[in-house]
Amino acid sequence: ESLTVAELGRKLGREPSGIIKKLFMLGIMATINQELDEDTIELICAEYGVEVEEEIRIDYTDLEVYFEEVDVEKNEANEIERPPVVTIMGHVDHGKTTLLDSIRNTKVTQGEAGGITQHIGAYQIENKGKKITFLDTPGHAAFTTMRARGAKVTDITILVVAADDGVMPQTIEAINHAKAADVPIIVAVNKMDKPTANPDRVMQELTDHGLVAEAWGGDAIFVPISALKGEGIEELIDMILLVAEVAELKANPKIRARGTVIEAQLDRGRGSAATLLIQDGTLHVGDPIVVGNTYGRVRAMISDIGRRVKEAGPSTPVEITGLSDVPQAGDRFVVFEDEKTARQIGETRASEAIQESRGEKTRITLDNLFEQMTIGDVKELNLIVKADVQGTVEAMAASLMKIEVEGVNVKLIHTGAGAINESDVTLAAASNAIVIGFNVRPDTNARRAAEAEGVDIRQHRVIYKVIEEIESAMKGMLDPEF
Ligand code: GDP
Repeated sequence: ESLTVAELGRKLGREPSGIIKKLFMLGIMATINQELDEDTIELICAEYGVEVEEEIRIDYTDLEVYFEEVDVEKNEANEIERPPVVTIMGHVDHGKTTLLDSIRNTKVTQGEAGGITQHIGAYQIENKGKKITFLDTPGHAAFTTMRARGAKVTDITILVVAADDGVMPQTIEAINHAKAADVPIIVAVNKMDKPTANPDRVMQELTDHGLVAEAWGGDAIFVPISALKGEGIEELIDMILLVAEVAELKANPKIRARGTVIEAQLDRGRGSAATLLIQDGTLHVGDPIVVGNTYGRVRAMISDIGRRVKEAGPSTPVEITGLSDVPQAGDRFVVFEDEKTARQIGETRASEAIQESRGEKTRITLDNLFEQMTIGDVKELNLIVKADVQGTVEAMAASLMKIEVEGVNVKLIHTGAGAINESDVTLAAASNAIVIGFNVRPDTNARRAAEAEGVDIRQHRVIYKVIEEIESAMKGMLDPEF
């Protein structure tokens, strides 16, 4: 097995320049892209005091790898139940913010009453000894933006539907965003206090989107509420805890913390302030930490009610200071054993991020589809279909589902009538999907987002052309676009 200097640097969490220097001392002139043979790799590793066999396979700069695999302390016996993390989604004005406020006001963590509400991006409540964490930014945009960055933080989605308004376009978007992320949905039928409330209509309309109420023989949970009057909140919380119990959410509080950034900003006086959601382990003041492409030591931690805390366990949101730079929402964080490693990895990640942002994104496009299929990266072609009218959407969906090419399935993750919007593009980026517009175009925001994210948008005016294009791309026979 050979590695380039850059790759070895990444694996060791060292700057390539340092490795080049060491090679030079050993009498080897090398460039950053030079391939090193096993013996040389071993020499360099020895210089850094690293055992090749054990350490070389672990790419420490890939936080994802660390997140999932590098866990010497992993021990199921230490796993305990962790609180669910809940996101609230739904159409604009259906009551998401009101619901978040209502839950927070009625259920401040017991024994913590009197604390001053801090909006740090997430908060925790306690009910009958069980905790629940709510993400404070409602809507699927934030949810999917984080997912696009590789983070999976939400365990349960509350879909708020106003009983006087029924299912609206963003309701459907929310459902598809939650489904694409494989997150269970609880429907909160809101505004039940209104005389015009018609919960049956909501249930009826949601049936068309795969959410069938238990009363009607399905397994979707519906809870009638009034976020404004605080009615039905208890029942909703009970349902969240029920779904959480079924999901058997576990974490190990004894290991070093890891998780995801919920939000971050530069704070005057305090420097970089980031809200972290701990997903596993326990975070302590003083911990050396890598957060996205930055690093530091946890200087202070503040809870959602503005209290200073010394440690925080699984599913807890805390705002920390002490980072050298401001990370982004959706960035992963991992605590390291010592500050030196954290700094090295943080610095390497930062310099790589700069290189990457200059490089090409490897998002899926119809042009590279076949190639990605061949190397086995793609087994499912995710599509988002937008068209001018609902009837066309359905006709297109039906034809697309009929496409049969060996080795790949076509999966429609979202369809709808109307222009291609930013939400479609974010969903495509998060789900590695291609967007097809039929007689519709992307709006300005969508176009900008697609450019930034490298999402492939295809526009057509004739149905058979769409099918033809997709089919040829799947067979590797698409004429390249110039
Ligand atoms: P969001 O856009 O989904 O966050 O919706 P908001 O929470 O801002 O609510 C939109 C409007 O609906 C506000 O004027 C709320 O006061 C109102 N609203 C929210 N929940 C209820 C409810 O349960 N009953 C009634 N009557 N109005 C509500």
